[in-house]
Amino acid sequence: MTTIASNLQAMRAAIHEAAHAAGREDTNITLLAVSKNFPAEAVRSAYHAGQHFFAENYLQEALDKMSALHDLPLEWHFIGPIQSNKTRAIAENFPWVHSVDRLKVAERLSAQRPEHLPALQVCLQVNISDEDTKSGVSIAEAPLVAAQIARLPRLKLRGLMAVPAPTDDIHTQRGAFATLRELLQNLNQQGLQLDTLSMGMSQDFAAAIMEGATMIRIGTAIFGNRTYS
Ligand SMILES: *Cc1c(COP(=O)(O)O)cnc(C)c1O
Repeated sequence: MTTIASNLQAMRAAIHEAAHAAGREDTNITLLAVSKNFPAEAVRSAYHAGQHFFAENYLQEALDKMSALHDLPLEWHFIGPIQSNKTRAIAENFPWVHSVDRLKVAERLSAQRPEHLPALQVCLQVNISDEDTKSGVSIAEAPLVAAQIARLPRLKLRGLMAVPAPTDDIHTQRGAFATLRELLQNLNQQGLQLDTLSMGMSQDFAAAIMEGATMIRIGTAIFGNRTYS
């Protein structure tokens, strides 16, 4: 078995265990393999180990991998920062975008989503740790921006995404994820119909699953440590 295959197997077991501890079904938790900084061949190897959903942070890197892997039926999710001049290529090439963090970007994605494709599925990124350096709307802004995005014709607002401040303390991790879950519940009480909580990475996915994550985004625990050149 390749390292990637055994890492995936261990990851699926860990998801199952966390879901069981939370009294949840692991079928309600989608594992996204975050392949940034890893080559197309690593993605191919994950696919052969049963992984279908992949996430990328950088547009050009993602497009290169998509073309190298066009023979495989993969589903690609965009999770990186979005510059306005990149929205067209994102709208044309991805079925899902998790990192929508302002109305202007959502409007461009909606306007640029090709007619022959289904509505682009998006999450609103929320800055739950309220760090200046992190992208995402504030918790206070989220209800208005979510309502505005939900009205855009070529987008389907599915839910919320967050990248909380890293910490090893599981209680702090759970607190941040609980904040996102409660925000989603509030938005649904106000009439939105959101079903997706995109939260949890290699270091904190168990806490995220305890708090209701429906999509976890895992890079390091599947592909290994990233080296930046
Ligand atoms: C890189 C990245 C991940 C994966 O992080 P790991 O700690 O390697 O699992 C998940 N989400 C986002 C937004 C990322 O940028």
